[in-house]
Order: sequence, then structure tokens, then C-alpha cells
Amino acid sequence: MAEHKNSCVDCGLVNCNRHESHYPEFCVSQHVSPELAEEAKALYHAEEINEKIAYASASIESDFYCEKTRLEEVALFAERIGAKKLGIATCVGLIRESRIVARYLREKGFLVFGTGCKVGEVDKAYIGLTQVNPCLGTNMCNPILQAKVLNREQTDLNIIIGLCVGHDSLFTKYAEAPCTTLVVKDRVLAHNPVGAIYQADSYYKRKLFGE
Ligand code: SF4
Repeated sequence: MAEHKNSCVDCGLVNCNRHESHYPEFCVSQHVSPELAEEAKALYHAEEINEKIAYASASIESDFYCEKTRLEEVALFAERIGAKKLGIATCVGLIRESRIVARYLREKGFLVFGTGCKVGEVDKAYIGLTQVNPCLGTNMCNPILQAKVLNREQTDLNIIIGLCVGHDSLFTKYAEAPCTTLVVKDRVLAHNPVGAIYQADSYYKRKLFGE
């Protein structure tokens, strides 16, 4: 196993945000090479879409801080980057929710095209999954085809609604348009994974850390 290395997740100071305290000795920001920092900065201006995305997301945070829901922010973001056609990559378990999202976005004037995760209807045996829970159906989620269908539709921005952990990785890997997440799947916590984190010192302590 690789050696433990302290990083931002081990920092209690976060001085990079407001410069109100001091940096930890292992500060990631302070140890990044000037070349790497410049390389990253230059990329914000390397492509028009990078400039648009960086500006739109920062301006939405600034203009509507704690005012807009994430759903509203997605519409604002799409508008500010000039997107006209939106793709929705949805879990079929959240198809009703996706219908509501599509209606909301269409009323905002966007074209919307959705793909459900079972598109293509490929049997789970294709990826070697033979012990299939009969309650769940036999077709596998097909995030690569979801991405390819949205690529074919030439969407300007893709919105992820409830794709499983990992299926989202494949979807974003193959999608050509920028992607943003509206809903993350958590079947236990009503799609609110941070609930487990908020309870990590109390009810979920044993579950998460075995204490
Ligand atoms: S960049 Fe430095 S100060 Fe900021 S969170 Fe990471 S370690 Fe902490």
C-alpha cells in the first residue's frame, strides 16, 4: 500500500480560502509547482467552453448564493453557457423525477432529450454478472450507450439524474458535452448521501467506522 500523505482532506485551516490563519506544513497549495499552477490557470482560457463554464458557475454562486435550488442553478448554468439542447442521463428508477426536470427545463425554453439507464437492453450476463437479484431485472445499466445517444443528439450540456456509483464514471468518460450532476443516487438516504456523513459521529458511527 502506498504511503499516507497529508493533503487538503487532513487540513483544519483552509487558509487558501480567506487567508485568515496560516498554512499547514503540508499545504497542497503551497507545494504545488508554479509550472503546474500556471498550466491549470492557462486552461481556463484555452477553450471558449472552459471560459464560459468557469465564469457561469462562479457568477451563479455569486449572484444567487443560498437563494436558488440546485435545479434552478442547473437551468441558470445552461442558460449562461449558451446551451440550447440539454441531455438527461437518468436512472430508470428516477424516471418520474426526470420527467419533472424535463418539464421544468422545457418551460425555460430548452430542448431536452433523455436517455434511461437501461437503453439498449443488454443482459447483465454480458458483463459476467450471473447472480442477478430477480427483483432488479436482468438488463444492465448501459451508461456508455446513454452517453453515445446524447452525443448523437449533439447535446450542449448533459445532466445526470441518479446514475449509480460507477455508471456515472462511465457516462462522464464517454459523454462529449460537459456534464453536471443534479441528483446523486443513494438508495438508503433518499438520494442524500451527505446524510451519512452528518451522522458519522452519532447514529452512523458504527456503520461507517465500526466503533
Ligand atoms: S490548500 Fe492548503 S490551506 Fe487549503 S485546504 Fe489544502 S492544505 Fe489546507
